[in-house]
Amino acid sequence: MRITAVQAVYPKYKHLAPSWRTHFWQIVVRVDTDAGITGYGYGGGGVAGVAVVNGHLRDLLIGREIESVADIQAIYDLLYLESLPYGRKGLGIMALSGIDLALYDLLGKARDVPVCALLSDTPKRRIRAYATGEDAELYHSLGYTANKFGHRWTGSDDDYDTAVRSAERARSIFGEEATIMVDVYMSWDADVTLEMAKRLADYNLYWFEDILTPDDLDGQAALIDDVKPTLIAGGEHEFTRHGFGAIAKARAMDLWQPDITWCGGITEGMRIVDLAEEYGIPVAPHRGGEVWGLHLISGSACADLAEFHSDHIRSERDILWVNEPAPIDGYISPSDAPGFGVTLNEALL
Ligand SMILES: [Mg+2]
Repeated sequence: MRITAVQAVYPKYKHLAPSWRTHFWQIVVRVDTDAGITGYGYGGGGVAGVAVVNGHLRDLLIGREIESVADIQAIYDLLYLESLPYGRKGLGIMALSGIDLALYDLLGKARDVPVCALLSDTPKRRIRAYATGEDAELYHSLGYTANKFGHRWTGSDDDYDTAVRSAERARSIFGEEATIMVDVYMSWDADVTLEMAKRLADYNLYWFEDILTPDDLDGQAALIDDVKPTLIAGGEHEFTRHGFGAIAKARAMDLWQPDITWCGGITEGMRIVDLAEEYGIPVAPHRGGEVWGLHLISGSACADLAEFHSDHIRSERDILWVNEPAPIDGYISPSDAPGFGVTLNEALL
C-alpha cells in the first residue's frame, strides 16, 4: 500500500491543564493509504511537533510503500537523517515517533494482526501493571501489586520525612511482596540520593527514578553501587539507541524507561531493547500501559512491567483513544484487534 496523505493534529484536550507535566503535549498523527487503510500514531512535541510532521516530514512520506516492518524501519531511518539538523533528540524525534507508530498501526491493520504480533511470534498476552500515583489504597483495592509514588526535593530537610512516610504507607498497604518504586523527577542530587538510600532502606524500594538530569550520566553512574539493591532507573527523557548507548557506556542506569511515543517509536524502541539485552539491562517503558508501549512490551524482551498512570485511573479525563485496555486485577493485556487496537475520538480534534 502506498501513502497518500499524512496529517498531524494537536488535540483539544479539555480535562487537563495546558502544561507539559499533565499531558505531555501529545500529538495525533494520521497516515492514509491507497488501500483505504488509515494508521494512527501518538507522538510528542505539541504544536512544534505538528509543524515538523506537516511542514517537513509529510513531503518525504507521500508516495512511499509500506509492506513490511523493514519498510517502516527504512522510512524511520530516512526521516531520522532528514530531520537530523534539528532532530536527534527532543521535539524532532517526538514528532517522528508519532509517524513511526502510525506506520505500525497501518501494517497491523493491513495484515489484520495486533502490532505485538508484528514484533514477535510469541507476544506476551498478560503483563503485570504498576500504578503510578499517590492513592495506594485505591490501587491496592483494584488488584495492583506494584506502585510508584512521587517525591520532590524542595530544599527542606522535611523532604526526607515525606519520602519515608510515602514509602512506609505504600509498603504497609501493599505488603512485603509488593514492588514499590519512587519517581523524583530530577529533584534529588547526589547527597540527597545517598541519604535517601539509607533512610528508605527498610522499605526495599525497587528503583529510584530520574534522580538527576539525563545529562548527568557520570553523576548517576557514581551512585549506582551505593544505592544497591535499589536500582537507578530513568530514560523517559532520552531518545534513540544513540542516547541509550551513551547511558550504557557510562553504566549510568540499572533499568531503562524509554517513552515509545517520544524516543523514536516502535522502530527505535526495539533497537533500544536489543541494546539493553546486550548489556543485561531490563527495560520498562515510560507509560508502558498505554497501547504504544504495551505492544512493545508484549512483543519484545522488555521487563514484565507496564506503567499505568493515575490520571488514567481517574474517571474525569479526555478519552482520546477509544478501546484502550485497562488493567484487571493488576494485569493488562493488549487486545487482539488489528494495529494498536484503538480508535481515535475525533471529537477531541
Ligand atoms: Mg518518570
